[in-house]
Amino acid sequence: MFSLKDKVAIITGGASGIGLAMSQTFAQAGARVHILELNAGLAQQVADEINASGGRAHAHAVDVSNQAQVVEVINQIAAGGPISILINNAGISHIGTVETTTEADFDRVFTVNVKGAYNCLHATIPHLKATGGGVVLNMASIAATVGIPDRFAYSMTKGAVVSMTLSVAKDYLKHNIRCNCISPARVHTPFVDGFLAKNYPGQEAEMFSKLAATQPIGRMAKPAEVAGLALYLCSDEAGFITGCDYPIDGGFVRLNN
Ligand code: NAD
Repeated sequence: MFSLKDKVAIITGGASGIGLAMSQTFAQAGARVHILELNAGLAQQVADEINASGGRAHAHAVDVSNQAQVVEVINQIAAGGPISILINNAGISHIGTVETTTEADFDRVFTVNVKGAYNCLHATIPHLKATGGGVVLNMASIAATVGIPDRFAYSMTKGAVVSMTLSVAKDYLKHNIRCNCISPARVHTPFVDGFLAKNYPGQEAEMFSKLAATQPIGRMAKPAEVAGLALYLCSDEAGFITGCDYPIDGGFVRLNN
């Protein structure tokens, strides 16, 4: 296993789904994990479980779209020692075409998925610079580069995350800061379960199978599989990798023909 011994990792949305798997995997790899979460109760529960099993984790109640909250908590974490890793994972979905997406929907998805990542970068990069560098990992999606039906606003936000990754990677090469992103296809998380419960009540199992069948590999990814890639990209072994967007998609982008 790649080691993150004594690294300090900030993981937004780190209490559920992919973020939860990353919090657990990073703690197992030796990192001190700071979970920045809207769901403060769940974050505390996850941190307690990690600490009970010998890891080191802290829960922080934060809405990443609120810049003042983000600045306060990141400055507080930095005061305790150098930050090594920032993972911008918190995100929300939205179902809709350009016609059915309201202004409020548009603003909400951009405020969390794009401004939230910007807020965390804006607050963290000065600390990474001041302490000799670090790693940033952003959670994009294949929706950034492949047409996915009914994901007008969501797809645009993930396109922005890919662009944000390139911009940060370029600007901070000289400060020893690497920045990459991951683009999953379907990952079986509460994100997917919530979507099915809301949009297909009573047909969740059938629709789950249909969604899984759209992946060339025949199933959805497990959160731990995404966390494994994240662990590698944030480890010192990935020291030559920056400015990249990694698909983890069961062949969805290149083999779906
Ligand atoms: P999830 O809903 O299981 O977890 C997301 C977490 O983010 C939740 O714990 C939630 O409380 C937190 N969160 C939401 N808004 C927040 C805010 N404003 N401030 C702080 N925390 C907030 O979702 P997931 O499936 O694990 O997705 C994680 C990321 O991966 C998202 O960015 C999502 O777009 C991306 N992604 C997911 C899939 C998938 O199929 N699940 C595919 C591609 C990309």
